[in-house]
Amino acid sequence: MSRIIAHVDMDAFYASVEQRDHPELKGKPVIVGGSAEQRGVVAAASYEARKFGVHSAMPTVRAMRLCPHAIRLPSHFARYREVSRQIRDIFNALTPLVEPLSLDEAFLDLSGKANTVKEVKALAQSIKQQILDTTQLTASVGVAPNKFLAKIASDQNKPDGLFIIRQNEIEAFLDELPLKKLWGVGPATRRRLEKMGIETMAHLRQCSLADLVKQLGSHGAHLWKISQGQDDREVTPDRPYKNISRETTFAEDLVDRDVMKATLQELCESTINNVRKHNLQGKTLHVKVRLGDFTTLTRNITLSWPTQENGVAWHTIEKLFDQKVDLQGQGVRLLGVGISGLSDHNSGQLPLFPYEEMVGH
Ligand SMILES: [Mg+2]
Repeated sequence: MSRIIAHVDMDAFYASVEQRDHPELKGKPVIVGGSAEQRGVVAAASYEARKFGVHSAMPTVRAMRLCPHAIRLPSHFARYREVSRQIRDIFNALTPLVEPLSLDEAFLDLSGKANTVKEVKALAQSIKQQILDTTQLTASVGVAPNKFLAKIASDQNKPDGLFIIRQNEIEAFLDELPLKKLWGVGPATRRRLEKMGIETMAHLRQCSLADLVKQLGSHGAHLWKISQGQDDREVTPDRPYKNISRETTFAEDLVDRDVMKATLQELCESTINNVRKHNLQGKTLHVKVRLGDFTTLTRNITLSWPTQENGVAWHTIEKLFDQKVDLQGQGVRLLGVGISGLSDHNSGQLPLFPYEEMVGH
């Protein structure tokens, strides 16, 4: 193996911590998150609840409809953070190259720590065992030559999984992979790919780089590289976030307003999912639009309450775009969405009047 990248992902983390701390919840459908009455969302669901179609980021009211006998608990982030620190200590003892993605997920660069596949497997197993011994919780580990593949690998045999993708297995593995497993491909991008006749990774690989860039801009180039099994991104140790944003450029200027909005909505969702994954909330939402003549417009709104809600964020972004962005009759070459004013999220519930806002730019 050239590089050895591991992605370690705790299984149903918050729900598993609750089940561990309250043994009477073992084997039962558990939902951690804000209450339905307070328009909360699911932060985590135990595997027993997932069987009913419940998943994180789903409104609790919907989750309780799918699984009426589920036990709903408020989140206890101080507790989860404590367990997360224990897990982080295990990683840090192995390598300084640890990149946490959230409280319950991290990339580790283990290059040079093992030479054969057998050794890689033993190393991954020992990480799982140390986590189990220390926390009584299970983790799933994926190991591959790059981050993208490692992340997909950890999801292959969940829960308590271990999955290794070797260099010479990459192509065969990718061919079997449905597009929806692709990290960072939302429904709007998927629809556009399907319109191009691309339904699998194998199709994506056969597509020319030029065509993908033409249709999807820089995101298309990224997808093409990934379909070739290439991903050079480094494992970069933690840094605190000041803002979280996503943007995408188009090789050809967008002129269709519906497509612009679908793209913005996808960027907004992915930004907010990232905010939620880090257990953060943000107060100021940003829209960035670069016009055909390279004029860049940035607009923002500061809410009176911080949020980590997709609905609130999208409502705000859509309003900014509709009311504050003048396209001056031009096409659009770049769209971006961001959120700043980040703070730790603890309440798991929404204020009563989330839409009050201050407009700035
Ligand atoms: Mg997890």
